[in-house]
Amino acid sequence: MSNGNCGANYLNWALKHLNMDETLCAYLQTPYRVISVELPLPREDGIVVFKGYRVQHNHARGPFKGGLRYHPDLNLEHAHALAELMTWKTALMNIPFGGAKGGITCNPAELDERELEFLTKLYTRRMARLLGPDCDIPAPDMGTGPQEMAWIYDAYGGYQGGHHPDVVTGKPLQLGGSAGRVAATGRGVFLVTKWAAEALDMGLKNKTIAIQGFGNVGAYAAQYLQKAGCKIIAVSDANGAICNKEGLDTKALLKTCNEKNISVGKATSYGESIEQDQVLSLDVDILIPAAIGDAIHKNNASKINARMVVEAANMPITHEGEKILAKNDIVIIPDIMANAGGVTVSYLEWIQNRSGLIWSEKEVEERTEEIMHQAWKSLCERHRQKELSYRQAAYLIAVERVAQSSELRGYA
Ligand code: NAD
Repeated sequence: MSNGNCGANYLNWALKHLNMDETLCAYLQTPYRVISVELPLPREDGIVVFKGYRVQHNHARGPFKGGLRYHPDLNLEHAHALAELMTWKTALMNIPFGGAKGGITCNPAELDERELEFLTKLYTRRMARLLGPDCDIPAPDMGTGPQEMAWIYDAYGGYQGGHHPDVVTGKPLQLGGSAGRVAATGRGVFLVTKWAAEALDMGLKNKTIAIQGFGNVGAYAAQYLQKAGCKIIAVSDANGAICNKEGLDTKALLKTCNEKNISVGKATSYGESIEQDQVLSLDVDILIPAAIGDAIHKNNASKINARMVVEAANMPITHEGEKILAKNDIVIIPDIMANAGGVTVSYLEWIQNRSGLIWSEKEVEERTEEIMHQAWKSLCERHRQKELSYRQAAYLIAVERVAQSSELRGYA
């Protein structure tokens, strides 16, 4: 992730636009707390020390909330940028959380299950005093999923005593996870894409879509969009890409890739294998980056050939890239709106854990849609009223809400 990420630029723009005083600006621009831990892991060939981070950006509106990423490129700068993004995402959704992010700098594919459990539990124990259902609630992100969350739940309970399922979200169903959580971010991407397509008077029927990333977010978004009548003409993953101008059968493609443990680029019975980067420059109605940060930047933004880019990944467009897209009249639906389905269902999971209620998938889906649709409506209102981009409108709403809560509490 580059220093030119959109988030910091838009925060500064929003602070200026809202005429915030200097102290409040400093309060919103800096993290509340930064934690870093060293994690020695005994391996067959000796001890390897991994680095773990947690950046707690802001908790003016409620407990810190954000994912845990296991990735070789994770560093403090990434965690900070992503933690800040969570503050604005939870505020835009108007759910009572702040923002945090963390993880371990590692390649989970190179660790076996015992090592992953050891590292996750060690990380949790070392962070435990600063986590908690009313303090900081982790969730899955890249490289982590329900299993890691189950280990966190266990290690936190061991530290604290008793049962605290509400300390972490994205847990397996058997341990208090919520129905609908696994598909939540992809489903949210679908809903927001549908609303945005309606706002642009284009609708979804027969619209062509290319998706970068075919993991949790990309694969679910693809299946929901295909069901709604879109043609998913290309998808990519870390090792390849596939294209079919008639539209891919995304459900079958996912099944084949999972069963055979192959990249989409190798599943040539579904389409033609293409270069990974080609996915970004195809002539499509909608482009959905759903993999990595900084995917669209100053050197490739002018090749984007879509009417709308929906940011399913966090920070997939650099500030320079965004300027080029804007010049070419390409509409951007920002990450803090587009991928907020995950944190919204996490909120519903937390409520269920605290109240002892268990909601059906239908109930969770309906509640999620209601929260996200309210957020979408306020975003559209601000976007129209002031002739702002969707990202500018989103930042104004979110920063204003966090600033108001901070001022009411008296920030210090
Ligand atoms: P994941 O690990 O399940 O999937 C990531 C996918 O991207 C994989 O298919 C991987 O092969 C692919 N990929 C990696 N590098 C690539 C490259 N250079 N080109 C093409 N594909 C590449 O992760 P995920 O949970 O789907 O997260 C994807 C993005 O969505 C991340 O930016 C994450 O922060 C964001 N996000 C995830 C959630 C969630 O609930 N999982 C919520 C909000 C935002």
